[in-house]
Amino acid sequence: MSGLRPLDAREVPEHALQVLRTLQEAGHAAWLAGGCVRDLLLGGAAQDFDVATSARPESVVRLFAHTVPTGLVHGTVTVVTTVAHVEVTTFRGEGRYLDGRRPSSVHFLDDITGDLARRDLTVNAIAWDPLHAAFADPFDGQRDLVDRVIRAVGDPVARFTEDGLRPLRAVRFATTLRFRFDRATRRAIASALPSFEKVAAERVKDELSKLLVRGQPPSRGIELMRRTGLLARVVPELLEGVGFEQNRWHAYDVYRHTLHALDHTPPDLGLRLAGLLHDIAKPRTASMAVEGAPLAPRGEHHFYDHEHVGRDVTLRILERLKFPRKLSDHVALLVDEHNWHYRPEWSDGTVRRHAARIGLESLAPLWALRRADLLARGRYVDEGLANLDETKARFDSVLAQDRALKIADLDVRGPDVMAALGVGPGPVVGQAMRWLLERVLDEPSVNRRETLLALLVSPEAPRFASSTGGPQTAGLRPAPGS
Ligand code: ATP
Ligand code: MG
Repeated sequence: MSGLRPLDAREVPEHALQVLRTLQEAGHAAWLAGGCVRDLLLGGAAQDFDVATSARPESVVRLFAHTVPTGLVHGTVTVVTTVAHVEVTTFRGEGRYLDGRRPSSVHFLDDITGDLARRDLTVNAIAWDPLHAAFADPFDGQRDLVDRVIRAVGDPVARFTEDGLRPLRAVRFATTLRFRFDRATRRAIASALPSFEKVAAERVKDELSKLLVRGQPPSRGIELMRRTGLLARVVPELLEGVGFEQNRWHAYDVYRHTLHALDHTPPDLGLRLAGLLHDIAKPRTASMAVEGAPLAPRGEHHFYDHEHVGRDVTLRILERLKFPRKLSDHVALLVDEHNWHYRPEWSDGTVRRHAARIGLESLAPLWALRRADLLARGRYVDEGLANLDETKARFDSVLAQDRALKIADLDVRGPDVMAALGVGPGPVVGQAMRWLLERVLDEPSVNRRETLLALLVSPEAPRFASSTGGPQTAGLRPAPGS
């Protein structure tokens, strides 16, 4: 079709061609279908080569040496080759959707057309047989690829209400492919919102993640979600920022600033989520500046502690969406740390304490978030970036000298401390090590075993109190000279 690249079998990796060949030589129909055909036709790289076949799952299992029964009831078998995995799915039709989430039944078909009919969007419902240079495209997906249109397969209201995730998928593909919406398809979203509310959080999370990471730009997806009513059901907290004016440092309201910041973050899920959520608590922490205050004239907003409140709000949102705990903690940390102001008069110890609290592995992402945040102010950007460069340079130079920032970096271990203090295991050991770490953060050169052990019994050491007061841990420090 004109406007699309002619496809050539040489663009398909040999392992995927071999799967098609094996199925066809055994007398089955076998096509590449879905995302890989769409992405190749658009001239991009395909992610996974998914195969649709008339072969029933048990035949697929028999035909290949190494398979995994990924989703046998849905007809999916994963063929494991030495190069990569290929998902092979039997042509299937779906029974009625009774709950807005999954079909009440799945039945296998002999023909590709019925299989393409159950798919969500026309651009996702194209099949290609590279071995015979043939296309199956009953819903004119290639035309919509040329016109760059997102259109539901069949009646959009019916398709979106039977599986409430489809509206979000449609928005996701509009955003990642930079396509516009067919009008009826877009209108159908409103009637599918009750179905959308029944969709499992994990599925929403996966689509939102792809929208954020692959969005061109991601802000368009968030804005499409807002206008279609999806955002109110996924992250309603973001709507509090719409029209919420800020202060002299900002050209945009909280919501528009958020969208700009999101677009300025690198395409990494943690950073994109942090860009999206970094100012989530601004509206709810806003206060008006007092008259005569030096930096904020009347009518301007202060957002004291918004980053700390935002950290808690972020954790609640990401937990609700079932993001993994590790990722949520990472994003929450970035939100929590996005707003302190570096001053050149800080001591090296202060720099090290900031680095210790943030963690070395989180510094680079934090600088990236802050850069995006500054670029999105729309005002005083150069000053902000200069301060950020100075901050980074200072942290780099301080951390180049020494990187002992946590208990595990100390040149002593628990048993050394116990021996030096003459105590057994107990909370005192931790207290003593935390005290040593504070000394090391101020003066890295003391982080040597002998020096640390001497410090523990020196007159400047506090009497480490035991929280339990047990006999083992009482009276810790040997009397001087003992
Ligand atoms: P990508 O993998 O790049 O995100 P994709 O098109 O491969 O894009 P998948 O989620 O992997 O998307 O789904 C593979 C194919 O399965 C889709 O192209 C589409 O044809 C079909 N599909 C996926 N989810 C649905 C759904 N909820 N309703 C109908 N068809 C779907
Ligand atoms: Mg895919």
